[in-house]
Amino acid sequence: MSRYAAPGQDGAIVSYENRYDHWIGGEYVAPAKGGYFDNPSPVNGQPFTEIARGTADDVERALDAAHGAAPGWGRTSVAERANVLNRIADRMEENLERLAVAESWENGKPVRETLAADMPLAIDHFRYFAGAIRAQEGGLAELDEDTVAYHFHEPLGVVGQIIPWNFPILMAVWKLAPALAAGNTVVLKPAEQTPASIHLLMSLIADLLPPGVVNIVNGFGVEAGKPLASSARVAKVAFTGETTTGRLIMQYASENIKPVTLELGGKSPNLFFDDVSTNNDDFFDKALEGFTMFALNQGEVCTCPSRALIQAGHYSDFLAAAVDRTNAIKQGHPLDTETMVGAQASNDQLEKILSYLDIGQREGAKLLTGGERADLGGELAGGYYVQPTIFQGDNAMRIFQEEIFGPVVSVASFTDFADGIKIANDTLYGLGAGVWTRDLNTAYRAGRAIQAGRVWTNCYHAYPAHAAFGGYKQSGIGRENHRMMLDHYQQTKNLLVNYSPKAV
Ligand code: NAD
Repeated sequence: MSRYAAPGQDGAIVSYENRYDHWIGGEYVAPAKGGYFDNPSPVNGQPFTEIARGTADDVERALDAAHGAAPGWGRTSVAERANVLNRIADRMEENLERLAVAESWENGKPVRETLAADMPLAIDHFRYFAGAIRAQEGGLAELDEDTVAYHFHEPLGVVGQIIPWNFPILMAVWKLAPALAAGNTVVLKPAEQTPASIHLLMSLIADLLPPGVVNIVNGFGVEAGKPLASSARVAKVAFTGETTTGRLIMQYASENIKPVTLELGGKSPNLFFDDVSTNNDDFFDKALEGFTMFALNQGEVCTCPSRALIQAGHYSDFLAAAVDRTNAIKQGHPLDTETMVGAQASNDQLEKILSYLDIGQREGAKLLTGGERADLGGELAGGYYVQPTIFQGDNAMRIFQEEIFGPVVSVASFTDFADGIKIANDTLYGLGAGVWTRDLNTAYRAGRAIQAGRVWTNCYHAYPAHAAFGGYKQSGIGRENHRMMLDHYQQTKNLLVNYSPKAV
């Protein structure tokens, strides 16, 4: 095992500024009137930098910069834009370790994952959309001998983007890469819990982008996010966050008839059919690993498989093995390279999870492991750690219906295929799901029957750039990833031309 030095310690590869202002028009701009707020690390609960507290005035300044840059950026050739995106990816790759450590320090997630997943995925996202925009073709319809309908893709202009704290850099990149590829300029508001890693990223790539193409306004939801989402000066709002906030974003954007894409919450079912346990082999092992995915990223994933549904025939045996596997998860210092579960992203989130641990026990769920704040002591004493937790109960309970967003899984059994699908779909959400079976016919039928935008089959938590991602039901509107995402950032211009010299 090795451990990266924490920012501020000898040998640290990441250092932060004492404060981060807003990034507007290619430079740091002090807040018009909002002052600053502290940004603590979840690793130890200690503030490590302060952040400008954005208000409507800062949003207006950022929109001025974005509008100033929009015509120029929108006119660049797709080859030029693709080139910039590829160069951003290269720059990130050269600084992968620094970005990964910064992301872990600010969010609390293990560096093992930021090194192996978050940063490589973010880098690939820029490369994917660099390729996608170059490969995009328009449409042409021959209406009759003399008449043609051309379809052109135009940028929307200036887009507003609001993101959460669970994957700070990856969520920013999911939004930035397609928007920039399509020729838009951006005002992005990071989550108030995790703005610093995005500023670190901007400091690394600023010279690759014309001033004003990407602008970052820090701050809180109502103070900075609301003016952005309500503005008549944005052509579209892209939001990732809670379903309750998504509802507000739609209301704000509706005032000016602006389109929104929403990536919201989830309560994803993970179904383990009886045949998983017919052999104690690699597949069985892989399925157990799939069960423990509820604790990945401390459960702070919108697709967290937070409801494990195990078929009755192997319920007890599979669950016993799953509890053992969960107990073997290594929780510890997020900058240790072997840590599998780190800290929750904020004290508020810690408190929310602890309240659900209480709710689960009060509503009669059986606690099979975990159930408490993890006291890791020493330098981690002030950090926000929760034990990976397994509850056994039934799908009507709040711990099965409400998003906890922590390393907590609620387990129930199902009798047959129809029962499994019924329980899986008994939720307001529809973002992700998992299906585990050796029978590919069952896998296919379950995958089609579950009402979720992504159903992982015999795998979980894979996020390739070229697979569409998004929610059914109250998990959202629109898709991210995949080249279809470009549609959400482009306007279609139809030119209907009649070439006949004669009067009709
Ligand atoms: P949140 O809704 O509290 O905040 C998200 C962002 O919205 C933050 O930047 C916040 O400042 C801003 N915001 C809050 N209130 C606002 C308002 N009234 N107006 C404008 N902006 C406002 O969500 P969170 O707690 O940061 O993130 C966790 C949630 O995000 C979970 O529900 C999770 O499922 C969801 N999520 C979804 C996806 C997905 O792709 N579907 C991905 C990651 C996270």
